[in-house]
Amino acid sequence: MTADATDTAADAAAPPAAPLAPAPCSGVLEARDVVKDLGQGPGRVRALKGVSLTLNAGELTLLMGPSGSGKTTLLSILGCILTPTEGTLSIAQQPTAGLLPEELAKLRRRYVGFIFQSYNLFPTLTAEENVRVALDVRGERGSEATVRAQRALQQVGLRHKLKSYPANLSGGEQQRVAVARALVGAPAVMLADEPTAALDSENGLAVMQLLSEIARDKSRAVLAVTHDPRTVPFANRVLRIEDGLIVGEERRAEGVETIHELARTRKRKANA
Ligand code: ADP
Ligand code: MG
Repeated sequence: MTADATDTAADAAAPPAAPLAPAPCSGVLEARDVVKDLGQGPGRVRALKGVSLTLNAGELTLLMGPSGSGKTTLLSILGCILTPTEGTLSIAQQPTAGLLPEELAKLRRRYVGFIFQSYNLFPTLTAEENVRVALDVRGERGSEATVRAQRALQQVGLRHKLKSYPANLSGGEQQRVAVARALVGAPAVMLADEPTAALDSENGLAVMQLLSEIARDKSRAVLAVTHDPRTVPFANRVLRIEDGLIVGEERRAEGVETIHELARTRKRKANA
């Protein structure tokens, strides 16, 4: 992992110190007319051309679109890693316009949890220590932090792997540690960039199942970038992005029932 990736992993995963107050309303994140230019000189690209969206608490939204359509750029803006060239963003009803970089980082640590395709775990730390990093960077240490890290790992089904190092965990287990790290500080918004892309189908679906359960918390919105059409049944909503613009939105009212149905079907198949 490069120094940059490590910083981003620790920083982006960094959650709030105490359990958050519930989001003030269902729209925990609002982006309006966001434009983003990337690169310099003749290589400059308009990666986002005017994107507006609201993320609601209690919902899992998928963001789907071809490679190069602006998905990662959009996630970076929503997670306060990049600032918009034009347009506005507010998280938990706090506008980000005019904030200094350190104020933006504070907002990110308090309200946003990130999950990456490549897990971004520290190889020399155990699962428990990797999750604790997210509390550490906020100055939360000691036995209470340990208990919270253990609870987060329990929530993702890894209570028995607390002391395991990433090299001794499967890809699916490593991604679940990353989910626990993003979850441990109870973020209002969880952003996942192709979280299943490096996983086989079984583990990929298990991670999506986990994200859909996390999104059922009424104080949290989850947005996941994915290419995989099999993840659609887990979502409440699917946004489609092409060439820097949102070109479609589909609501799936039956999302939660579908998840249960899918789990039952998979169980039946496993038992067959
Ligand atoms: P996606 O995640 O959907 O594959 P990205 O958000 O990574 O797409 O990229 C959107 C567009 O911006 C692409 O055309 C990409 O080549 C371009 N781009 C990404 N990063 C940079 C950069 N640092 N400088 C110039 N162009 C960039
Ligand atoms: Mg991308």
